[in-house]
Amino acid sequence: MRTKTITCVTAAMTSLCIAGTAIALPAASSATAAATTASAATVENQDRFAQLTMGGEMYSASGKPMVYLTYDDGPDPGSTQHVLAMLRKHRIKGTFFVLGQFMNTAAERQTVRSEFKSGHSVSIHGINHDDLENHKAPWIANDFRTMKSVIQNLTGNVPTCMRPPGGFYTKAVLHQAKVANLRVQMWSADSRDWQGISVARQMAKIRKAWRPGVVILLHDGRGHGANAAEVSRQVIAVAQKRGYQFGQLCPMIKPGQTPIPLLPPINMQLPPGILAKPRR
Ligand SMILES: [Zn+2]
Repeated sequence: MRTKTITCVTAAMTSLCIAGTAIALPAASSATAAATTASAATVENQDRFAQLTMGGEMYSASGKPMVYLTYDDGPDPGSTQHVLAMLRKHRIKGTFFVLGQFMNTAAERQTVRSEFKSGHSVSIHGINHDDLENHKAPWIANDFRTMKSVIQNLTGNVPTCMRPPGGFYTKAVLHQAKVANLRVQMWSADSRDWQGISVARQMAKIRKAWRPGVVILLHDGRGHGANAAEVSRQVIAVAQKRGYQFGQLCPMIKPGQTPIPLLPPINMQLPPGILAKPRR
């Protein structure tokens, strides 16, 4: 597994990393003032940022803090079914960022249908697990177009989000996502399950990043999903103890339906450094 060390942290501003370049964003509270004085470069960065989010809505309409579960790299007829059973038991809706390469066998395709029929969002990770920063716009556009088509054929609904494999993206990725009506949905709490660490260590990582609007990254495929259901169970227990409400990111839409507007860049309110080291 390839790893990268990308450090994009600033003291007073939230940063993002685009192809290893730190992009500073003004804090949400000063967004209006900042916009009037922003340099052309900053405005451009804000345009890019409008296509991308790390967090979800921070609070529900009733004022409860929100938490979101997301699963990458599936489907896996084994581990995904365990996750689905856990979510069903607690009546929680998650988001599955799926890979086209695992949507070929009858069992794999049925697993994706189960995700959709259970009320979860089926969203795009990619045909394969290619780093999109290695590809140019036409390749990326084809990846998005193909995955939208494959998911629509299986579920009858259209995905509204994508998550780049490894968390690596470029300006071309953000632009092609915009063209394809896809929000780039990142995460704000990485369980590091892909490193094969214990459930306890995964929970420690998640707890450290836990705050209203937290988007938790787990994996249900590519050999990383063995503990996904158990970590989900423990996340649910923590959420219940802390009075958090589970929300769903990336609701799917009917063909021809207009996607819901992009979330405002509320993740600007998250402390800096959360995405200091994007990983798959
Ligand atoms: Zn992945």
